[in-house]
Amino acid sequence: MLYYFTACDKNARKHYDDTVTVPYRIADLFDKLEPEIQWTLTTHGLNKHVHMWGAIPGDQNIKRWGRLKTNDGMLVYTKEGFTYYAKVLCKTHNKEVAERIWGKDNEGKTWEYIYFLKDLQKVSIPKEVFSAFFGYKINFTPQGFSNIDKEKLAVRMKRYTTLDELVVDLSKKFILSEDDLEENNFQTSLESDFSKISIDSPEIKKQRKKPKKINGMKAWPRSAKISKIALKKADFKCEIDQSHITFVSDASKEHYVEAHHLIPMKFQNDFTTSIDTESNVVALCPLCHRKIHLARKNEKKELLQILYNKRNGLLRNNVEIDISLQDLYGFYAIN
Ligand SMILES: [Zn+2]
Ligand SMILES: [Zn+2]
Repeated sequence: MLYYFTACDKNARKHYDDTVTVPYRIADLFDKLEPEIQWTLTTHGLNKHVHMWGAIPGDQNIKRWGRLKTNDGMLVYTKEGFTYYAKVLCKTHNKEVAERIWGKDNEGKTWEYIYFLKDLQKVSIPKEVFSAFFGYKINFTPQGFSNIDKEKLAVRMKRYTTLDELVVDLSKKFILSEDDLEENNFQTSLESDFSKISIDSPEIKKQRKKPKKINGMKAWPRSAKISKIALKKADFKCEIDQSHITFVSDASKEHYVEAHHLIPMKFQNDFTTSIDTESNVVALCPLCHRKIHLARKNEKKELLQILYNKRNGLLRNNVEIDISLQDLYGFYAIN
């Protein structure tokens, strides 16, 4: 399981400075700890100094703390994003020790649901990257002491054998959260003349490009020409159902359809081959396009299955991108 706690308010920020960024001198309070805790800390060489955190009593906190297990992952969230990653070593419920270390809050409570951390390492993960990676909404803000939604974690863990590997990828920042926003701007750039767009040349496999600053956001570059070829090849019809009629665009004089990257561009880092390629761009009517981004899981699944069946063979044969339908669901945070 992967947990996080937040250190955003004044008290928490002080505790963060005292017992996370530097290890706490636990040796002074060693005799206040139970023998098993003393033993665990000693066998890990953490009987003098150790990184630690505590949760204040409350139903949710007690429940979560109760489920914490040795080797669970713990991310630390501050106003600067996620700044540390550690493993849970052991836990103890100890009011006296908590009070001695962190004092009391305004209501006289203390952070008595204590856990000790090991293998603490610095990371730098903006919350937007975290949200995009796990499939949370873009405006998601971590609060209190919580765990990553089980299903969201399971979707991502299919690609890793350990939590550590997942966190390494997460901290590489190759998931570009702004890609979904960039898509809207990109759509506008396709609204132009199509008469010079040729659909006769074969699709060519290309290496992925580097992320770029586009409209002030970091995103993987998309070629307007490639998307325009894909729309023209689809004969400006919605690839979910050709009977989805839209309207004639004033700029292009063609039926209005939108370009959607079936494997979303934000996952470009998972492939060495460019996924900004004709086989990966589908033409959708505006309604189907919004659905694929915003509908409930089952409805998304139906659309993805139709599009997967149309494009899987092309992706494999033309550009050697071979993904399963399950992989595709994973890119949309669907199990
Ligand atoms: Zn889209
Ligand atoms: Zn449609």
